[in-house]
Amino acid sequence: MVTPVHIRPKDDEIYLDCNATTPVLPQISRAVSHTMEQVFGNPSSSHITGLQARYILDNARRLGCEVIGAERGQLVFTSGATEGIQTAVLSALTAVRKQGQVTAGKYLLYGATEHKAVPQALAHWNELLGTKAELKAIPVDRNGLLDLDFIAQHLPHALMISTMAVNNETGVRQDLATLEKVIRQHAPGVPWMVDCVQMLGKGQLQLAQTSIDYAPFSGHKLYGPKGIGFLYVREHAAFTPLIIGGGQEQGFRSGTENLPGIAAMHTLFELLLDREQQVFKPVATLGAYREQLLAALRTAFPTLELNHAFEYSVPTTLNFSVRGVPSRDIMDVFDAANIRVSSGSACSSKVTRSYVLDAMGLDDWRSQSAIRLSFGPATEQATVDAACARIEEAAQALRHSCLLLSDTNEDFDSELDGVVQLRFDAQCCYLVIDRSAREMAVIDPIPQLADRIEKLVACQHYRVKAVVTTEPQGDDSTAAMLAQLLCASGCDAERDNVGWPLAAQADCSTPVDCDVPTDGCLLVGNRRLYRVGSRQPVYLLSSPIEPTAGARVDFAFVGEQAAPQVLESVLGEHTLVCRKWDDDFAIASQLRELKGEG
Ligand code: PLP
Repeated sequence: MVTPVHIRPKDDEIYLDCNATTPVLPQISRAVSHTMEQVFGNPSSSHITGLQARYILDNARRLGCEVIGAERGQLVFTSGATEGIQTAVLSALTAVRKQGQVTAGKYLLYGATEHKAVPQALAHWNELLGTKAELKAIPVDRNGLLDLDFIAQHLPHALMISTMAVNNETGVRQDLATLEKVIRQHAPGVPWMVDCVQMLGKGQLQLAQTSIDYAPFSGHKLYGPKGIGFLYVREHAAFTPLIIGGGQEQGFRSGTENLPGIAAMHTLFELLLDREQQVFKPVATLGAYREQLLAALRTAFPTLELNHAFEYSVPTTLNFSVRGVPSRDIMDVFDAANIRVSSGSACSSKVTRSYVLDAMGLDDWRSQSAIRLSFGPATEQATVDAACARIEEAAQALRHSCLLLSDTNEDFDSELDGVVQLRFDAQCCYLVIDRSAREMAVIDPIPQLADRIEKLVACQHYRVKAVVTTEPQGDDSTAAMLAQLLCASGCDAERDNVGWPLAAQADCSTPVDCDVPTDGCLLVGNRRLYRVGSRQPVYLLSSPIEPTAGARVDFAFVGEQAAPQVLESVLGEHTLVCRKWDDDFAIASQLRELKGEG
């Protein structure tokens, strides 16, 4: 069996997913091991071993209060932010019930872009406590900022309001001072929780100078281990412990303290308070990292669009989309480059989307193709340089791979050569281009991309040999319409219902290297396009033809209904399957092949 110590990061891995979790800094990890091995006492014991442990606990709390500006109020160590969120919600709802307030039909307000732990905790405790309040998401604008008018309107009927300081997907930072003015003007006493998880280490907090009642934090988002976090509770704010028992944490959270985790927080707080700031970089440096990464990304994905305005977000997050390219395919490119990033959304099913970008009112395609790069305040310049070099390398591989990602601009169009994939949502269309011969074929055109294809043909003066489909089409289909339009540039006039030119056979002299009969072939420059089957045809594209040898099949274009037996017999070892629907199209494997990784 593989034990944990045998599991290691891949060599040369570059980790840019710090909003998900961070590596543990060596000095923090040393504090954890030291505490586990040497300061193993129970902080509740009255002997010296226990007192040593208590010293770490008390100091960590004192330093933590200094970091978040909690000279008054309570800092309670928890297992992480999710626990802090539960505690805050439980405390607020229990208090309104104890006060005998009417709760049914009142609102539990939360930001629409909040981490899922928040609305789920609200729903859970609302049900368990029988509060019968209505959960209401506060809308955000296109910049991800909360709608203050909505808050003002609904607050007088709210039992609680939950907002976040910094969003985990976009890095968008709420203006807490303005928010506080609105909240307190309309509901002076409403319990207010601010999820501060992504804020720690990225901006100043003076919590005791605000009327924020609860603020959960998490250790593993800032170079600490998993399983430790803390909750700030304002002085006099209502409190109900989530965990009851031995009375630890002054009764706020029972259970023997996670002292190694708390020692990690101790070291983290020391680093954050260090006036010399040897470890954490200034905001200007982090901003420069992000600009540098963005410039490298633009070389790989020239049409990328940012999903958040930098002026409203912390400098450690970069969230972007590339039109027509689902996040999973972009993730494949990063995986091939050994860079860890995350899709902007939690990918669960075939269609992935981001509820955060949806809430911001961004187009569907942005939500489906979102990618998040996030680094931390301790990220080194060398890591950013290496990441940029790899991204630029990946860009080159993409260009040389004839698998150029979709929707490029006109300058780029003149460079297109080989097989080009264009996408719209989950559907793919392919162009087979021979740039030097100025010939091309279109496979499975998509209505939304028809203009783009037409423009490409017109501007680049391509002779279109065929516009074919993997399923029969009517006369009014996009394929038929395009064939009509593009015929002037060279399609054969007579075609069957998949657009295959009736004169195709005439073009063909070299047999394809596979076991199935083909129905003629078309020359596109020095490659040949073969058709296999008539009702649900598969198209095979050969490698550039050697005059004497049989043609090797490089690409197979496959529709939804293609028979598995046909596929089995036509697919060679080197054949890349290009599907009409976004399934297994493997840019990454192509890249790996190009890099000789097999
Ligand atoms: N809130 C935000 C904004 C987060 O990013 C996360 C972590 O993903 C959480 C809450 C939950 O934190 P934890 O993993 O410590 O429970």
